[in-house]
Amino acid sequence: MDTPIISIKGLRKVYHNHIAVNHLDLDIHKGEIFGLLGPNGAGKSTTILMILGLTEPASGSVLVDGINPQTHPVDVKKLVGYLPDNIGFYEQRTGLDNLVLVAELNGYSYNEALGKAKDLITTVGLKEVGNKKVSTYSRGMKQRLGLADTLIKNPKIIILDEPTLGLDPTGVKEFLALIQKLSKKENLTVLLSSHHLHQVQEVCNRVGIFVKGNLIAHGKVQDLAHQLFRNNGVTTLLDTGLNDTDEINAIKSRLLNIDGIEHTDMNGKQIAIHHSFSSNTPLIKALSDQEVPIRQILQKGYDLDDIYSYYFEENRL
Ligand code: ADP
Ligand code: MG
Repeated sequence: MDTPIISIKGLRKVYHNHIAVNHLDLDIHKGEIFGLLGPNGAGKSTTILMILGLTEPASGSVLVDGINPQTHPVDVKKLVGYLPDNIGFYEQRTGLDNLVLVAELNGYSYNEALGKAKDLITTVGLKEVGNKKVSTYSRGMKQRLGLADTLIKNPKIIILDEPTLGLDPTGVKEFLALIQKLSKKENLTVLLSSHHLHQVQEVCNRVGIFVKGNLIAHGKVQDLAHQLFRNNGVTTLLDTGLNDTDEINAIKSRLLNIDGIEHTDMNGKQIAIHHSFSSNTPLIKALSDQEVPIRQILQKGYDLDDIYSYYFEENRL
């Protein structure tokens, strides 16, 4: 694979004895949409600020297209469009005016800035409302304007912190579709953070899951469940063929006497067996040694919903 456009090694950030980001190693490649995912407080925004050179790491390094944001923050800013999670606009000015202003601040003449602003307002689907005051915009429209704002300097990379926060489900879908389209068209690298795995999974080529400052897994969404749960033992569903709940319950309790079976639960008429056997074969042998009736046995796969409920439910962490 070619050289990563963002390369992070051993990155660490500590706030008053609290480790916000812990030895992060991560490479992001040109043209990919990478999702930085994790519950609130996981360290996503802190990581983004270090990539941008806006906060100093305790240790470790970041290179953005070969440039160190600590020593050359201005050069990095030229390459990267950043949409913070709390972007503010001049509410009493129009969307178009806001973009013209940013373009002028980036060194364009008024006429160039106006041309640029008009192009971008069309790109993000706000052409109809470009001449309306931002104060009349919905949250979704403001996020689109924010996206246009990040694109003004023709960046190679855009970093969007919680861009889907506060959008309704349709708004989320449309916004993510727009990002995907732009990324493809311009070969733009996109790093976005979110605490909604479900919302962003479809558009991200790869994601990294952060929990309490640690990147606990990263890769393609479909490979994550395997990475995350491979050390957690296995759950196998056993259909005893019995119908009587008392009989099934008696077997369920009896299973706990078998070495390697850690926990059992009812799953309708099936018994969910949580165990540490390497596969179903030795489990089946142990069950038949104990004369447990087996009609059908099925190893349960973990999916995104398992990841979600395990790592992302707000009340869990
Ligand atoms: P996320 O973006 O994933 O919600 P953050 O990066 O904002 O998480 O925060 C990570 C941790 O660092 C949290 O525990 C947060 O309270 C702490 N933190 C973030 N910014 C500061 C700061 N400026 N001062 C002190 N602690 C901070
Ligand atoms: Mg954040």
